[in-house]
Amino acid sequence: MKLRGNTGKVQELPWRRRKTVPVMVGPLRVGGGAPVVVESMTKTDTRDAAATLKQVRALERAGCELVRIAVPDMAAARALGHVVQRSRIPVVADVHFDHRLALAALEEGVAGIRLNPGNIADRRKVEAVVRSAQEKRASIRVGVNAGSLSKTAAARFADNAVHEAMVESALEHVSILEKLDFRDVLISVKSSDVATTVRAYRTLSSAVRYPLHVGITEAGTLLRGSVVSAVGVAVLLSEGIGDAVRVSLAASPVKEVEVGFLILGALGLRETGPVVICCPTCGRCEIDVQRIAREVERRTRSLRTPLAIAVMGCGVNGPGEARQADVGIAGGKGEGLLFSRGRIVGKVREADMVETLLERVRLMAEEEAP
Ligand code: SF4
Repeated sequence: MKLRGNTGKVQELPWRRRKTVPVMVGPLRVGGGAPVVVESMTKTDTRDAAATLKQVRALERAGCELVRIAVPDMAAARALGHVVQRSRIPVVADVHFDHRLALAALEEGVAGIRLNPGNIADRRKVEAVVRSAQEKRASIRVGVNAGSLSKTAAARFADNAVHEAMVESALEHVSILEKLDFRDVLISVKSSDVATTVRAYRTLSSAVRYPLHVGITEAGTLLRGSVVSAVGVAVLLSEGIGDAVRVSLAASPVKEVEVGFLILGALGLRETGPVVICCPTCGRCEIDVQRIAREVERRTRSLRTPLAIAVMGCGVNGPGEARQADVGIAGGKGEGLLFSRGRIVGKVREADMVETLLERVRLMAEEEAP
């Protein structure tokens, strides 16, 4: 496993991923050493296929690799076909309780379903779903949340062992699938509490080899949800646990994808395109670091070349940080020193800094293009 440092060089990661078996979700391989997948979920009314497809397009542009869509009723299940046929990324149907919705979603061509088979009382109905998933080569994700424990697990464990009850619930659902000889399984066990989630995944990870979808459920609004998700997911990934990530935010799903990639990028698990390193500014700052950094970040968002761009406010830490980046500026009075791959290559007026950095980034991206 490799990590890009701020110099653009790769180094060994201090953590290794745990071994899981690979499962295909459509053409996407999850687990088995494949890069950690970033997924999200649409927030439109699924019955409005045009609105859902528009959101899927926005997610594709943000780099989302797998999209889940809620299927609350038959009209929603029937609307999936329109999206599935046009989506460039695999679509997973999120189904609860009603096996007919799962069957309909599979008929519409989804790559996978999220379904807890133990919630369907009649085993013949579960069998029908599993047979259909097998025929269509679709995967099934068992997804247990702290709020959706199985009755037996909820009764067996005390309130302070929710993590164990989540794992037990998940294993109950999985064993139903295994008895039907279905192995294209992914699992998640999420709570809105970081410690509970981490405990649950640690236990689950030592019990199974199926790929694990990780995240903190109901994490909150944009800021809190991003922080809580980053903390929880980073603890798990630093222990090698996790094959797919969903950041659950009460915000645009595009933000979920952006935050997901930022977490993976910070851990060195995925290269995410240019990274803007900037100082927090202080009383010594001599240029408008925040404006310049924001502008450079905005205008490099669509690039995929992994580059480090430093925007630093003064000569204290500026030259050191700018020298380590691929391209950087160390601010001075109304101007700054421009660094490129560790060397000073000139002076730039503050008014020209954004365009100068962008031009350098463009050239470097061209050089590094395959
Ligand atoms: S680089 Fe300079 S301006 Fe920026 S935080 Fe450090 S001391 Fe302050």
